[in-house]
Amino acid sequence: MRKSGAEGPITRVRISTSLLPMNADLQRLTELEKIDREASRLTEEVAGLPKRVAAIEAKLAEHKAAVEKAKARIKGNEATRRQMEADIKGFQEKIAKYRSQSSSVKTNDEYRALMHEVEFAEKQISGCEDKILELMIGLENEEKALKVAEAELKTESADVEKEKTEARIRTAEDEKLLAGLKEKRDAIRSTVNDSALAHYDRVMRQRKSALAEARDQKCMACFVMVRPQTWQEIRTNEQIITCNSCGRILYFDPASETAAAAEPAKKKKARAAEVETAPEQTEQETTPTQ
Ligand SMILES: [Zn+2]
Repeated sequence: MRKSGAEGPITRVRISTSLLPMNADLQRLTELEKIDREASRLTEEVAGLPKRVAAIEAKLAEHKAAVEKAKARIKGNEATRRQMEADIKGFQEKIAKYRSQSSSVKTNDEYRALMHEVEFAEKQISGCEDKILELMIGLENEEKALKVAEAELKTESADVEKEKTEARIRTAEDEKLLAGLKEKRDAIRSTVNDSALAHYDRVMRQRKSALAEARDQKCMACFVMVRPQTWQEIRTNEQIITCNSCGRILYFDPASETAAAAEPAKKKKARAAEVETAPEQTEQETTPTQ
């Protein structure tokens, strides 16, 4: 099992038990919280992976659409060009017909009318030829765009396959880790006092964390002060004490106080001295299970 990995992102709850004997349930609940947090992180990750795959597949679909669009533009270009060529042919036939008619007309007016038709058809042909030239230039750009879109699609397809494979592997790994965590979790839960466990579960459900460090007489999760008497009790870590305000189970970490006491504050030094004498008490008080 990835023990170090499981502890990686959750180093917040780290208590120097060597300095203070800790109530066994409190100790187990801190372990349980680490496991629960890691399990919920993994569960979220597993749930998020299909979404990531869907997102990259949507991106792939965009690239496919871009390729199709580029192809459609080229087809459209070619169709228009064929139409223009057919139109030119039609006008040329008309011109040939007008010319052959012109040799047999009787009046100047009739002749001028035919020549006028010829002129009109020639203008149309010239217009078609201009348009064909434009289409040829456009076609070059459209073919370039298609090549770019196809290259992007190729790259993207390879990426998608890679990401999908990675997502599958990650999901399998996470599920394996989760199974291991569940075993650990069940083992710990079976040893914790029922009412402490029920309280833990309730707070965990509501607040996503069930324990909080108490420091400087405050709950470090909700920052509400605890009563002096309660504070003295918390400092021994000998029983399960909950925050009156947020309900989290409070624990005391002597290391935090030692760090704070390093600053030159007489009051804090005095308090640190108190800690030195406190740990002599036993841890048996509220440890019925084990
Ligand atoms: Zn609180």
